[in-house]
Order: sequence, then C-alpha cells, then structure tokens
Amino acid sequence: MSHRRMLLSYAILLAALLGCSDEHAGRAPVPGDAAAVSPPAASPVPAVTSVDGARIGAADGEPHNWLSHGRSYSEQRFSPLDRIDTANVGRLGLAWFFDFPTDRGMEATPIVVDGRLYVTGTWSMVYAFDAKSGALLWHHDPGVPRQWAVHLCCDAVNRGVAAWGGKVFVGTLDGRLQALDATDGKVLWSVQTTPRDKPYSITGAPRVVKGLVIIGNGGSELGVRGYVSAYDAETGDMKWRFYTVPGDPAQPFESPALERAAATWSGGEWWKIGGGGTVWDSMAYDPELDLLYVGVGNGSPWNQQYRSPGGGDNLYLSSIVALDPDTGAYVWHYQTTPGDTWDYTATQHLVLAELPIGGTPRKVIMQAPKNGFFYVLDRATGEFLSGDAYAYQTWAEGIDANGRPVPNAQARYVGKEALVFPSPHGAHNWHPMSFSPRTGLVYIPVQEIPFVYKHDDKFAFEPGLWNTGVDVEAAGLPEDPAAAAEVLKLVQGHLVAWDPVARKEAWRVEQGAPFNGGVLSTAGELVFQGSARGEFVAYRADTGERLWAAPVQTGVVAAPMTYAVDGEQYVAVVVGWGGGLPLAGGRVAQMAGSVNRSRLLVYALDGRQQLPEPVAVTRALAPPPLSATPEQVARGKTLYAARCFACHGDGAVGGGVVPDLRYASAATHAEFDAIVRGGLRHQKGMVGFAQVFGREDVEAIHAYVIKRAHDLLAEQAARQGGNAG
Ligand code: CA
Repeated sequence: MSHRRMLLSYAILLAALLGCSDEHAGRAPVPGDAAAVSPPAASPVPAVTSVDGARIGAADGEPHNWLSHGRSYSEQRFSPLDRIDTANVGRLGLAWFFDFPTDRGMEATPIVVDGRLYVTGTWSMVYAFDAKSGALLWHHDPGVPRQWAVHLCCDAVNRGVAAWGGKVFVGTLDGRLQALDATDGKVLWSVQTTPRDKPYSITGAPRVVKGLVIIGNGGSELGVRGYVSAYDAETGDMKWRFYTVPGDPAQPFESPALERAAATWSGGEWWKIGGGGTVWDSMAYDPELDLLYVGVGNGSPWNQQYRSPGGGDNLYLSSIVALDPDTGAYVWHYQTTPGDTWDYTATQHLVLAELPIGGTPRKVIMQAPKNGFFYVLDRATGEFLSGDAYAYQTWAEGIDANGRPVPNAQARYVGKEALVFPSPHGAHNWHPMSFSPRTGLVYIPVQEIPFVYKHDDKFAFEPGLWNTGVDVEAAGLPEDPAAAAEVLKLVQGHLVAWDPVARKEAWRVEQGAPFNGGVLSTAGELVFQGSARGEFVAYRADTGERLWAAPVQTGVVAAPMTYAVDGEQYVAVVVGWGGGLPLAGGRVAQMAGSVNRSRLLVYALDGRQQLPEPVAVTRALAPPPLSATPEQVARGKTLYAARCFACHGDGAVGGGVVPDLRYASAATHAEFDAIVRGGLRHQKGMVGFAQVFGREDVEAIHAYVIKRAHDLLAEQAARQGGNAG
C-alpha cells in the first residue's frame, strides 16, 4: 500500500474511532500527500533514541533535533540551523502536511528526536510521525470526556509533549499525566495529578529535569489552588508538589514559603474558592545553577476584593518562582503584578540568556507577561534588572528602581468600573516568544486590547463554573455596530522585536488583528511566525523585512519549530485557529477572519506540496421571528454574558471556532432547551446546564441569541443599502 493510501485509510479510521467526524461539519479529514516527497515505502522507520538531561543540556550540539518544548532548557526557541537563510527562504515550500481529525485550537510545538516528530492536538491527543516522510507512526487518544470542556477557560487545547528515556509524556485536559512508549504510543503509566472534583485542567507541555516530569495545571478562572508537581519519569510516583498560594491559614502550611506568603493575603476566605496561581504554561531550567523556574498565574477570583479584600501582594500570584528541582523547595521569587486583580498572569514564556547589562555579562531570565512590561532579572538571585513597557498599558505608571510597579489607582476598579489596557487576554499571552543570541533581540507576539473591568457586586461563588468577581457583561463590546467599530480601532496585534539590553523596541510588524502565533528564530537570520489572519511568514531577524509568506487557510496561534533529517532542514508549524480569544472574543476574534482548519504543515526548500482548496463555508442566517419582550432579551444577555460567552463569544458573535449561534439551524432552535439544559450535545463538549438554568432562563438566552441574529440581518441590510446607494 502506498504511503498516501495508507495515510488516507488511517485518517478515515481515526476519524471513525474518535467519533469526531461531526466536528468537521461536512469536511472529511484528508491527510497530506506525504508520498510525493517521501522516500520509497521501504524506507525504515527511524529508531527511537533515548533523551536525557545531558542531551537537552547540550542541545546546540545536535541542532537537527528539537528535544524539549522550547528546544533547550533555556527555552530560547532559537535554532542553530542555517541551511534555510535570508538568501534562499523564497524557495520554501510545503514538503508534507497532515490533516488533524479535530477542529479546535492547535497550540502545540512539535518535538523532534532523531527523525521522529511528536506533537499534540486538541483533547490532549498525541501523534507521532516520521519527520522526513510525514508518515503517521502512531496516535494516542487519552479519552478525555468531552464534558470536561465546561471546566476549560480557553478551548480544548494542548501545547505539547516532553521526551525522555524512550518515553513521551503528555498532560491531559482532565488532569492526568501519561507516559507513552515512544515506539508505539502505548500507555506505560498514567497518574491523576489533580482532584477530579475540582475544575483543574492541563494544557501546558511537561518538562523533564533530572528524571522528574514537571507538570502544572490551569483553572484559575473557575476557582482552584495552583501548584506544580514532579513525577518520577520511570514509575509515575510523585516526588514533590509546590503550592503557589496559601491554603486555609487555620491549617498547617505546606512550607515556610507559604507561611510567608499567607502574610500578604488579607481579610478574605480565598481558600474556599482556590486563590488561583496556576502554573499552566511556562518553565525553564538552568543546569549550572540547578534552578527550575516556573511562571505563576492570576488570582482566583480575578477581583482581589473577593479574594483578599484587605489588599496585599497575594504571593505568589503573577510571579516568577525559582525552585529546587530535586525537592520543589522555594528559592526566590519576583512578583510582576502585586495584588493582581486583572488576570495578569506571569505564566508567559520564560527565556534564559546571557546578556551584557551595564557592561557586565549577566545570567538573566526574561519574561513579557500579560501586564505589558518586559522584565529582565538575574536568574541566580531574582534581582530585578529592568522592567519596561513593551505595549500600551494603563494599570501602572511604571516600574520603580526596586522592581515594584507604581500603581495607577484608577485601574483598580474597587466598587466601580475602569477601562484598562491590557485586557485579560494580555499584551502577550501564552504564544511563545523567541530570543536570538545572534541579533540579541526578543521577538514577541504583542497585542493591544482594551477591557472594562467592573466590580460584580452580585458575585457568588458557583463551583465548577467561571468565578471572576468581574461583571463580564460590562466588558462586552457595544452591540451598536458604529460604537463597536470605535472600540475595535483600539485593538491591535503586532510582532515586536525587543532589545532587552537597550530596553526598547528595535522593529515591529503590524498584523491587523490580535492573537497571532508564537515565534521561532534561526541562525539563518530568520524569524518565523504564523498570523491570526492565516499566513505563515518569514522575516529578516535584524530588520523585520518580510521575505517569504504562505497562506495557510486558518489562523495560526502555535509557534513554529525547525529540525533536520539527512541534512535537509524543515520548518514545521501546527495551524488551527482557536484558544481563549478566538472562543470568547466575539468581534475582536472576528478581526482575524479565520475559521479552524487543523493541520501540521512542514516546509522545506523546494517543497512542492499544495494544500487542497478550502471548502467554502456556507451558512444560512435565518433566525425565527423575534417574539420575546425587550426585558426577556435583556435578561438573556445578562445570563449569556455570565455563562455562555467564554465559549460562544462576546455578544453571541462566533470567532471562527465554535459554531456561531446566530446562524443556528431551525433544528437547533427547536432543540435549544434540550441542548442547553438537557445536554443533548455533551459529546461535543456542550454539557447540560440544568443545575444552573431554569426553563425561563434558557428561553431568555434563546431570545437574546435570536435578537443578535436579527441585529446581524439588520447590519447586513444596512451595509447592502449603503453599497447600493
Ligand atoms: Ca487567567
């Protein structure tokens, strides 16, 4: 059987097994034509080789591989490969591709170990490929219950695997850590890392340090207590756990660091909601200093008034924390946003580098967290070296000489509302940045989005659901199209090249929409990035000049990576629009104009593959008549904002991932209550909300959705009238 036919039958089988062919809405999964660029079918499958700390620590010695999430422990996402460079990048073409049989956001960075490529897709699935031919070697579906989607803030995503000792590790959305045999994907061990009765989730990539698999989790939007744990890579036994926020102070503290932290919380009962501080993405490791660095998330709930009404810094929220990797013991911390009340996580990508600061070489750690400031710290001690705004922000006047922000009192919405930059989506979200030691620049996917934070004076904790203490309805974009357009003018996305020594921007590329992809830089003096608007682009690393671009038919949020097999350099990127902003963002998400098409794309010089022409999405906007009263619609809007927007989009405007409710079919309208309360579509992740909503509630939400469909009809008619006139 040819590779092509084998792949085709595998993909069809896969789709049938996964029971997710309905996710495609009429688009059958078709694998890429790997056969045309692959060697003859007799070509042997590359053997599994064992990854260890010495190999990851000396990653520059084997530049053809990408052994860990950020390529090396320093997580620079810079590759020494230079066969593809500024002179020949114009010859880049598609070598092979793979169609994933799912249609939610794709955020993973592939790992490549000696010719084998491992990558994760949605619902925590793992795929292994022959990195040269594109042949699918195995696939692992951990069987995440689709109902778990109600516990996810930001789509059914996963950001990648870790490799160690002939195994591949993945964290699952429902909180398991699994060790797979890298040869065939068989589960070697699987442990539950979270209490299953709490809304924890895992979307981040594990890292492996000294034989310990380090894994965190998410859930601070819903109400959890953050921690990071280490498991023995061989056995799955837990070796240590570090909680990032104190629990009930009436109970013994787990560590002296938490006792100190508890003194910075005041007056509330945060432990009943969780406190937050989840370690949901970034980590880095310095083998010489033997320090593990983790990025800690926002408060739970967001609004500090409901967490710690007496104020305080609320350690270790929004902090970079250094830990002893053998024991999980605290070593130092730096808090980026004391007393966080805006969802300003410090979980963004951590990068280690050597920089000349004041003429002296310093071992630094760098981060561009959500709060809009770029930080350079001494990574041995946590000493603050610099902090400068890399994006427009209004929550602080600046950072003082001691590294403490000078607050803008207006932004702290105590008992009121405030328009603030950045939004909870951040000036930079999880999308990895990249540091090139050759240019000395950090390439950051930046966005500028305003947000109205309003104290929710009716806040009451509801277990398992969103609990922010912020009135999300007030934050919604105005429904009036002209007013919305004014706000949208403030929204931006750009790729920024930041000079961390000169502490200023070197160049930027405007991208016309926020939530653009992660970044790769290479010794070929290139910077690669995919865009929300569906291009994959190569820039000159020193000037930002656009050298090459390919349309990819969907928004890109993941970061590219590069590897080589038999001397040929490849650039790989997972594409597929989705994640937090594409789900929740409504019209802001629509600025990208993208829909989800989930693929792995692998480029090489003179690659000749073509993506199939995209099937046009045809949707009828034919809502039932609006018979509800304005009061019902208003009530529906409030309920929608509280419980529906995070997945279905602000203002009932779909962002291109989950179906746009305004285009719901007659059948969907007929089954509205059976879906929303009865859970008719729980297998697609839409659980029944019978515990939350009564029949009248659902009627009101339905009325609001119908009203929004009629709003869109009116908008379209006005546009057509305007065009005709
Ligand atoms: Ca958050």
